[in-house]
Amino acid sequence: MIHEKSLIRPEQLKTHDKLVIDGVDVSGHWSTFVEARVVTDYNERLQDEIAALPGGEYIHRCWQCGSCTNSCTVNALNPDFNPRFWIYLIRMGMESELLRDKDIIWQCVSCHKCTSACPRDVVPEGVMKATAHWLALKGHSPKSKSTIFDEEFTEQVVATGKIEDGRVIRNFFAKTGQPLMQDWLVEIVKRVARRLPVLQGLKMGWAAVFRPKARNWGRARAALDDYLQEQEAIQRKALNLD
Ligand code: SF4
Ligand code: SF4
Repeated sequence: MIHEKSLIRPEQLKTHDKLVIDGVDVSGHWSTFVEARVVTDYNERLQDEIAALPGGEYIHRCWQCGSCTNSCTVNALNPDFNPRFWIYLIRMGMESELLRDKDIIWQCVSCHKCTSACPRDVVPEGVMKATAHWLALKGHSPKSKSTIFDEEFTEQVVATGKIEDGRVIRNFFAKTGQPLMQDWLVEIVKRVARRLPVLQGLKMGWAAVFRPKARNWGRARAALDDYLQEQEAIQRKALNLD
């Protein structure tokens, strides 16, 4: 069932230029019908697949109140961006319908307004992230920039047990083909540099060059590596990727 008129695909709206019923002229707008569709390609595991990815765990709680979409930052700019509707499609297993919006689902800006508004603790922001991740893992869309950023961040944590912000940003820009010298970034660096105590600046410069590791990081790293591999195997199995 489609709850919102804006979600009816234009190709399913039918009108008659000339239609008279019982002597009443209902041509044009008055004879608008919505063509019925038959969906046969359900993916009965779709909800389980999304729930297996980080952020999607609570999708089953959704009761379709629409508070997430009403509060959504991106929906205010683009009504086609509709978390409630996508959660509905996922829960119904309507994969082909979901794929029609594959080019905008990644646009979630992670503002978490939906998460604050949700009365069922679904964490819709997490579901959007899990759905974007699912699209990439299934090969329906390229890896999103948000996933590339997360991977860069995780790689550094695993390698050293620490985060060096400058390196994360440099590598993220390089991997996503963005120039490093961006006006907003230059401005941030200038303002931080103006207020940064000299000793702190020296420490940061040293860390950027020598990439120190957290103390006794070896064992923690091995445990973290094991956990990440285990999670990846669980996700690949849930999504039937092997
Ligand atoms: S986190 Fe994403 S889905 Fe939620 S309100 Fe913000 S933009 Fe919309
Ligand atoms: S606010 Fe929560 S319960 Fe309501 S439609 Fe969105 S995800 Fe579902």
